[in-house]
Amino acid sequence: MTSLLQSAKRIVVKIGSALLVDSNTGAVKARWLATLIDDLEKAKARGADIIVVSSGAIALGRRSLGLPAGKLRLEESQAAAAVGQIALAQSWSEALATRKIVAAQVLVTLADTEERRRHLNARATLSTLLAQGAVPVINENDTVATSEIRYGDNDRLAARVASMMSADCLVLLSDIDGLYTAPPEKPGSTFVPLVKEITAEIEAMAGKTISGLGVGGMITKIEAGKIALSAGCNMVIASGHQDHPVRRIMDGERCTWFVAPLSALQSRKRWIAGTLQPVGCLVVDDGAQSALGRGKSLLPAGVKQVTGNFSRGDTVSVVNLEGQEIARGLVAYDYSDAARIAGLKSADIEKAIGFRGRDEIIHRDDLVMINGER
Ligand code: GLU
Repeated sequence: MTSLLQSAKRIVVKIGSALLVDSNTGAVKARWLATLIDDLEKAKARGADIIVVSSGAIALGRRSLGLPAGKLRLEESQAAAAVGQIALAQSWSEALATRKIVAAQVLVTLADTEERRRHLNARATLSTLLAQGAVPVINENDTVATSEIRYGDNDRLAARVASMMSADCLVLLSDIDGLYTAPPEKPGSTFVPLVKEITAEIEAMAGKTISGLGVGGMITKIEAGKIALSAGCNMVIASGHQDHPVRRIMDGERCTWFVAPLSALQSRKRWIAGTLQPVGCLVVDDGAQSALGRGKSLLPAGVKQVTGNFSRGDTVSVVNLEGQEIARGLVAYDYSDAARIAGLKSADIEKAIGFRGRDEIIHRDDLVMINGER
């Protein structure tokens, strides 16, 4: 299983508050963080993209505001997050800078990962950061997220990010080393090293384990597993208590692996193909049809006609000149812009619509052929 991490091209690592923030001093555990960053730098050096999802804003901020120990009211935790997020981002930025890695703070709300248009924007920004070699450090925008539009836990947030970014491995560093058949202190409870499918039995094992600083527990980790697995992303729950927590996973330390049945790209394509009702249609010429057959993206030049009323990110059908649906994909332009750029070379997109959008009207990764996936 360790090879799933060793060979991963894009890794999301989630760090719980209890690992990062010292419960006695209320400060970041800088020495431990340095060992984690050493691991992340090594993964980066072999070519993997790294995305961090870091908790800890509330845990860091509560002390500065003089808030009491124990459970905070929503407004109190939002206020604490506003204070603590500054320190959290600074700790990551300084720690990564010691390895000459640029940190980028990204604060997201539920809608940024759930709503199609915002999802695409967040994905584009994160992709740009990764392409530039930066490490995005993501947290929920706790201060503005009200209870209805909140994740509340970074386990599910990290899984959504992994799915949005087509990551192939999600690492949940926690204060527990993995999943047990019952609470670990219970006699007869045994460790579960591998999960291939999240069944009702697995969910029942999660029970309720809430640690002092975090909000996650095993239930949200199992929820994260469902999101990750259905997006084709493998997930591992491992203890982050020791130094070099990621290296330890690679060295085979005990942890629970959740293995996805399909790859991220296969899952994404299956999801696109399964859209019940495409909301628009692009008619393409013979040249574009054969290019798609060879595994290329769809460029505006090959589009003859655009119909429907769609927005960027919606699923549309790609139809040939005989009227047969040959592919389905997520379109990169709103209807009005798509209609304007149909037939044009990519270099002329800006002149036609006033901004420089993507070169492709449907990117290859967002496109699935109807007869046989490519
Ligand atoms: N977003 C919260 C924070 O940074 C943490 C949520 C969690 O622990 O999962 O404090």
